[in-house]
Amino acid sequence: KPVYVDQVVSEVLDRTRMGAESQDIVVVSGGESGLVVRGNEAQLVTAVTNLVDNAINYSPDHTRVAIGTRQRDGLVEISVSDQGIGIGETDLDRIFERFYRADPARSRATGGTGLGLAIVKHIATNHGGSVDVWSVEGSGSTFTLRLPSAARSAADDPAVADGSDLGPDPDPDAA
Ligand code: ATP
Ligand code: MG
Repeated sequence: KPVYVDQVVSEVLDRTRMGAESQDIVVVSGGESGLVVRGNEAQLVTAVTNLVDNAINYSPDHTRVAIGTRQRDGLVEISVSDQGIGIGETDLDRIFERFYRADPARSRATGGTGLGLAIVKHIATNHGGSVDVWSVEGSGSTFTLRLPSAARSAADDPAVADGSDLGPDPDPDAA
């Protein structure tokens, strides 16, 4: 089924607003709109929510978290960036493993189970996509979910299904 990325992002913003506010963190979103992937919306909301929850949990108060969307080489990219504690090189290879948590002394002691990123990876893989991380210890992290783009079609897309957004009629002499 088609999943509208704008819809996923807005649900994630709703779900994470309370936690962000409790740390005076602002979650902003930006980038390309109108992107579509194929799959399970609830799972994709869970995946992006896990990334934003981490971005909040592993950042100091009064920072910013950004959700960005774009399309590149047939892939839809949803990235979550923070200005948090970052992840050291030795931990970077392992954070997607089940139950793995980086040094709890540096992680905010929020009592996570270490499953969030394993779930994100599982959902990404299930959708024919991937997730990766870029991080600088002490300054922040960016997680990027990449999913195959679904071609928009009038049949799938409520915005164009009524024909109002299809542009001018084709030239009858062209064929
Ligand atoms: P939970 O199961 O509640 O999500 P968790 O957050 O510890 O627990 P993961 O989401 O899998 O588990 O993350 C694994 C570890 O990776 C975290 O414990 C933390 O050390 C590190 N980590 C994840 N996201 C970030 C981030 N944005 N910034 C810094 N460290 C992070
Ligand atoms: Mg987590």
